[in-house]
Amino acid sequence: MKPPPFDYHGPVTLGEALDVLAEAGPGGKVLAGGQSLIPLLNMRLAAPAHIVDVNRVPGLDGIEAGPAGVRVGALARHAAVERSPQAAAVLPLLRQALRLVAHPVIRNRGTVVGSLVHADPAAEMPAVLALLGGSVRLASRDGEREVPAAEFFTGLMESAVRPGELAVSAFFPALPPRSGTAFHEVARRHGDYAVAGVAAAVTLGEDLRVAAARVACVSVGPVPVVVDVTPACGPGPAAEADWEAVAGAVRDRVDPEGDIHATADYRRHLTGVLAARALRDAAFAARGEES
Ligand SMILES: Cc1cc2nc3c(=O)[nH]c(=O)nc-3n(C[C@H](O)[C@H](O)[C@H](O)COP(=O)(O)OP(=O)(O)OC[C@H]3O[C@@H](n4cnc5c(N)ncnc54)[C@H](O)[C@@H]3O)c2cc1C
Repeated sequence: MKPPPFDYHGPVTLGEALDVLAEAGPGGKVLAGGQSLIPLLNMRLAAPAHIVDVNRVPGLDGIEAGPAGVRVGALARHAAVERSPQAAAVLPLLRQALRLVAHPVIRNRGTVVGSLVHADPAAEMPAVLALLGGSVRLASRDGEREVPAAEFFTGLMESAVRPGELAVSAFFPALPPRSGTAFHEVARRHGDYAVAGVAAAVTLGEDLRVAAARVACVSVGPVPVVVDVTPACGPGPAAEADWEAVAGAVRDRVDPEGDIHATADYRRHLTGVLAARALRDAAFAARGEES
């Protein structure tokens, strides 16, 4: 299939990109890595009048890692973030999740920010942003706004980005000391979108009891489902926690739909299994141990 006709724009400055987007209004679509947009065009599931290719805009490919977290620019490719030692040192979860995103060839071109805006409920990076309570910075000709993850994913493949806006970066906040993370998923074939997946973050107190534990689940609703399981962890040492029982609280909270890949019951069961694994591994990592 060939895409429907559109006007192509290749701005070379951020100001020019925002001007073109403002003039295009609802008929404009940003082209970043193209790994989701181009298939949508070719399948004629989208027919924007204007494509605004931002790949020549300088300064959008930054990956800034610091004690507060990691800021990822709109043109930072999945592979660049995955391979960044600085990003992995601050937030190992970024690498843990990005390894599960599609295949290396797609990760070489696709962008983290593009994945957030695309807001596929089966995608890994929206779950990571939701789990960490991160945010997305949106720019338009009228200025900038920072949208928290809890308000960014508004529905099935819907985000808070308005016509005329460009997502210029995303911020993934660092976790407190004695935190660990893990991401587990099941896909029908390696590199496919997950049938179900769970990202977990566990933070221990100085007494090595669980101070905070939460998960973000993919493919079980229109947006990532974040569940705080801290109360279910109990007062004992994290090393003795019954993660299968804790994962029961996650299973009870998700309400997936069935489709050609899996029934709703199977997805709910799988989410519980993956939540137990991810929480156990995150707790191991929080204690500085390998699982
Ligand atoms: C075979 C295959 C398998 C895949 N498997 C997975 C997977 O397992 N997990 C996963 O997470 N993803 C998967 N993907 C998708 C991949 O991660 C995409 O790269 C990603 O979803 C979109 O990033 P992109 O940069 O390619 O965005 P594009 O395709 O360029 O754009 C996607 C959408 O976001 C908008 N957009 C992009 N960037 C911006 C911006 N800066 N500001 C405003 N709007 C913007 C576009 O207008 C468009 O609507 C797969 C893709 C393919 C082709």
